[in-house]
Amino acid sequence: MDANDMTRFGFDLTETQLEIRDMMLRFATERLAPGAADRDRTEIFPHALINELAAMGTMAMKSAPEDDGPGLDNTGYALAIEALSRFDASIAVVAVASNLAAAILSKGATAEQRARYLAPVARGERGALSFALTEPGAGSDTAAIRTRATRDGDGWVLNGEKQWITGAAGAQLFTVFAKTPTETNPNAASCFVVPADTPGFRLGRIEDKMGLRSSGTAQLFFEDCQLPADALIGAPGDGFRLALSGISASRVAIAAQSIGIAERAYALGLDYATQRQAFGRPVAGFQNSRFAIADARTALDQCWLLMLRAARLLDRGIPIRAEASMAKLAASETCGRVVDQMLQLHGGNGYSRDYEIERLYRDARVMRIFEGTSEVQREVIARDILGS
Ligand SMILES: Cc1cc2nc3c(=O)[nH]c(=O)nc-3n(C[C@H](O)[C@H](O)[C@H](O)COP(=O)(O)OP(=O)(O)OC[C@H]3O[C@@H](n4cnc5c(N)ncnc54)[C@H](O)[C@@H]3O)c2cc1C
Repeated sequence: MDANDMTRFGFDLTETQLEIRDMMLRFATERLAPGAADRDRTEIFPHALINELAAMGTMAMKSAPEDDGPGLDNTGYALAIEALSRFDASIAVVAVASNLAAAILSKGATAEQRARYLAPVARGERGALSFALTEPGAGSDTAAIRTRATRDGDGWVLNGEKQWITGAAGAQLFTVFAKTPTETNPNAASCFVVPADTPGFRLGRIEDKMGLRSSGTAQLFFEDCQLPADALIGAPGDGFRLALSGISASRVAIAAQSIGIAERAYALGLDYATQRQAFGRPVAGFQNSRFAIADARTALDQCWLLMLRAARLLDRGIPIRAEASMAKLAASETCGRVVDQMLQLHGGNGYSRDYEIERLYRDARVMRIFEGTSEVQREVIARDILGS
């Protein structure tokens, strides 16, 4: 069985979708794979590689041709992220965050704002965008954010802090969510674009993370940060609606990331187990190894099917929630299990930083946490089934 043969899934993929997958796989093997271990060790944000990817339209893949974007669909986008994630999940996650922010600008920004903020990203002139919602006291419970924007003449003043913001170390532009309470809605929130050189904006600590170590995750601080009127995306009070508008597609992208990491682990495990000898035979010859490989392949194919279904439904304009959560839940949980099984096949070498599987093991863990934890995904699915 050829694990890379996309026809096995029975989904008719278009030429464009297959081309983008090939292009990203080529870029990932030639440009990302060689330095990935070094970047993991040094944690240095890879500006040059992000710019190279951005020049290929990767930071706003679904933005429309009139905004200078490649106008990819969700299936093509997911295939691209899966391919990149195989060889450097840190860089792939920067692209996922940027595409989430870009999707929000596509949906909520005026033509003028899109020309100013989105099109340069789509053309690859401004690196990656960042998406800033989470705060020290508000992760799963997004409504608990405390960053606040208050009116100041025509513009706004932003105060507060954000945490865990992917790609922040290199981003020139952030989409930031802040409370804009009104008399009728004290919990209203709005979305703003904030250029990194805005006075009153400050980058905080770069997180010292277990995995995805070169993704430049950082804290953001806003201290009387003055924003012009046109920094507001959508109407005042539209913030949570805009944040949620891109969430299903982004969960499908994290499913794709999880599959990419797990596919790489599977390939490494298979390779190692067929080479490594014990008791006069390849490790792959023991029944438990054969079963681990069969289980991993079966689970991975299930994840592909759930991911492709969710992407396909989004491409048909069907507003899915549970299907995206199922894809993300299954793929992120499977990713953890598959990477663990494949590391086990490596024996002691799997525990060494000299082997790629060790990095994959660390990179895999957060897939179950960000873009909605596994528990949050189960809640979304249960709500869909039970109606409350
Ligand atoms: C590497 C990394 C990158 C990230 N990138 C970004 C980014 O770019 N932008 C951004 O805005 N955020 C980002 N995040 C934040 C991420 O989305 C949150 O960490 C995530 O949503 C979980 O929130 P939390 O960490 O506050 O955990 P909490 O919400 O405090 O959860 C703690 C535990 O409680 C459980 N829990 C919470 N609520 C419920 C519930 N209702 N039912 C059952 N269990 C529950 C959770 O599942 C979890 O097990 C990133 C996080 C990480 C680690």
